[in-house]
Amino acid sequence: MAIVLPHHKLTSVINLQTLSDLFAEKDLQLPGEKAQRLSQERGIWDGFEKTCLVKSESLQMPHTMKAVSNNGYLCDNQCLSFKLRKLCAHTVAVAAHNRNVAAHFNWYRNQEKKTA
Ligand SMILES: [Zn+2]
Repeated sequence: MAIVLPHHKLTSVINLQTLSDLFAEKDLQLPGEKAQRLSQERGIWDGFEKTCLVKSESLQMPHTMKAVSNNGYLCDNQCLSFKLRKLCAHTVAVAAHNRNVAAHFNWYRNQEKKTA
């Protein structure tokens, strides 16, 4: 008789499709998967003050996220995707960790408007 395992209870499914008007499908898929992986592996730690540490998949040192007002998160300058897009798997993972992905994406949209 097969043992039926209970469904994995994900804290939240990270869905980046709400940003599909800003990014190509492939640019959303990878960070989404990575963010999901980071939250499942518990690669996120709360740091001092308004910072969070996120495990880096390429560097020895974790990335340091800084929380800013209105659910914004800033990754550190070691992160190329953040430099490029102001959004990366790390910031998304932290948003998921804090259960405010939707609010974080709103913040992101507002940032985009300001810099555009
Ligand atoms: Zn990053």
